Amino acid sequence: MTRFIFITGGVVSSLGKGLASAALGAVLQARGYSVRLRKLDPYLNVDPGTMSPYQHGEVYVTEDGAETDLDLGHYERFTGVSARQGDNVTSGRIYLDVIRRERRGGYLGKTIQVIPHVTDAIKEFILADTEDTDFVLVEIGGTVGDIEGLPFFEAIRQLGNELGRDRTMFIHLTLLPYIPTAGELKTKPTQHSVKELRSIGIQPDALLCRSDRPIPEAERAKMALFCNVRPEAVIQALDVANIYMVPLAYHEEGLDRVVMEHFGLADAPEPDLARWRDIVQRVANPEGEVTIAIVGKYVELKEAYKSLIESLAHGGIANNVRVNLDWVDAGIFESGQDPVARLENVHGILVPGGFGERGAEGKIKAITFARTHNVPYFGICFGMQMAVIEAARNLAGIEGAGSTEFGECREPVVGLLTEWVRGNRREVRGKDGDMGGTMRLGAYEAVLAEGSRVAEIYGTTHISERHRHRYEVNVNYKDRLEASGIRFSGLSPDGELPEIVEIPDHPWFVGVQFHPELKSRPFDPHPLFASFIKAAVEQSRLV
Ligand code: GLN
Repeated sequence: MTRFIFITGGVVSSLGKGLASAALGAVLQARGYSVRLRKLDPYLNVDPGTMSPYQHGEVYVTEDGAETDLDLGHYERFTGVSARQGDNVTSGRIYLDVIRRERRGGYLGKTIQVIPHVTDAIKEFILADTEDTDFVLVEIGGTVGDIEGLPFFEAIRQLGNELGRDRTMFIHLTLLPYIPTAGELKTKPTQHSVKELRSIGIQPDALLCRSDRPIPEAERAKMALFCNVRPEAVIQALDVANIYMVPLAYHEEGLDRVVMEHFGLADAPEPDLARWRDIVQRVANPEGEVTIAIVGKYVELKEAYKSLIESLAHGGIANNVRVNLDWVDAGIFESGQDPVARLENVHGILVPGGFGERGAEGKIKAITFARTHNVPYFGICFGMQMAVIEAARNLAGIEGAGSTEFGECREPVVGLLTEWVRGNRREVRGKDGDMGGTMRLGAYEAVLAEGSRVAEIYGTTHISERHRHRYEVNVNYKDRLEASGIRFSGLSPDGELPEIVEIPDHPWFVGVQFHPELKSRPFDPHPLFASFIKAAVEQSRLV
């Protein structure tokens, strides 16, 4: 029997609902249950793919090629369950489907309304493909009371009724602010937010209360009374030093026990949280540290690099070191700052994914520094494309080498990807097509050259990684570039698309067209990140 847990948020946004859902999923999994996590986003974009990182942070890409909310990254990292296209839906997607169906005459002449048509579409989405899962955790984006969230709240209210209380549970995440002048944690915002929730017909079964200090018994009792929640279901969620402590913290506070009791599973065995203890232990006791420079464009906005930051931490876990991140705005190298002065003390340089011309030349300068000073370099997607342009200009002497992403160019070493093969289908794109959902997205296979560094790192010559790009390294330049010392060590199975480049006589220089950060997990660090951090550890012994 599939059970549904709905996670809503109150008081303010950014309380970490995604992390809370992911951590609860991890604890339920540790009790031996299968879990699936889903996110409902009330905004009107069909997916976050067209949004600026400043608006939305990272766009997380699933195996099956959906561009989704970054919370799905948390879900995967905490549970190891690969998210699917159907695990993230927005109001935009729901309305698009409903309106398309209306245009096709699919509603047989009826008046189309938010209730029941939009709410039915939301319910269908929540229930789809869940038959073989024990627990489906559904996070509702935004905060209770937002106008655009109402159809989602109404839909989960209806599901609560239709499926019954023994198959549904509502958890509300709130904040208890500390008011220094009163010397107290305040429960009033929580009371109001629950009142709001109840006014739309949802009675929370548990409160998860974010707080920066322990919640006194009296405040818990007060919330239980005013919010009509059992006292033991008022759970404190204190700030923790590291996100991987959250599953352990929730278990200690009794959240999973409350869930078990709610569903009448109180006799279930205790969860096995050994792997989380091991991770927390390693993070808390590093044997050394390294510093990695991330040279990018959105460096003031860490949300844009969520998976990357986590993957570097996983690389640290694999090597028992702490990884310090030094964020470098690529623009500084364009306005004349010397890369040597800025980068000489770091143990590794990473240029992450990116879009557009701004900062590109600065990134290329940082790559020249890494290549010529033998500093470990990891280029991801845009970072690989820039590494190839750097090599084309400075190793192969191809003057004017550039990317058509920045406009017409004499030597389009990186050009628009217009045709490629997906499974047994050919995908075709033109210059003037739609921007949304049209990149090369999701998992594609690559074949690695026998004896290459990457084949050794992966321990295999056949890999599958997730992609999100519109441009590609032009394979016609392969021979000239290889003759100059940069090896195309990974290609698409048909040999058309360069997937990986490396410089064999460099301590560690790898560029990948895909996004390995999307598949790294704390208990299973991605081999490229583990290897890059290992190289940085070696570098740290030299400088
Ligand atoms: N802008 C580049 C492209 O579209 C790189 C994309 C990326 O780094 N994700 O190909």
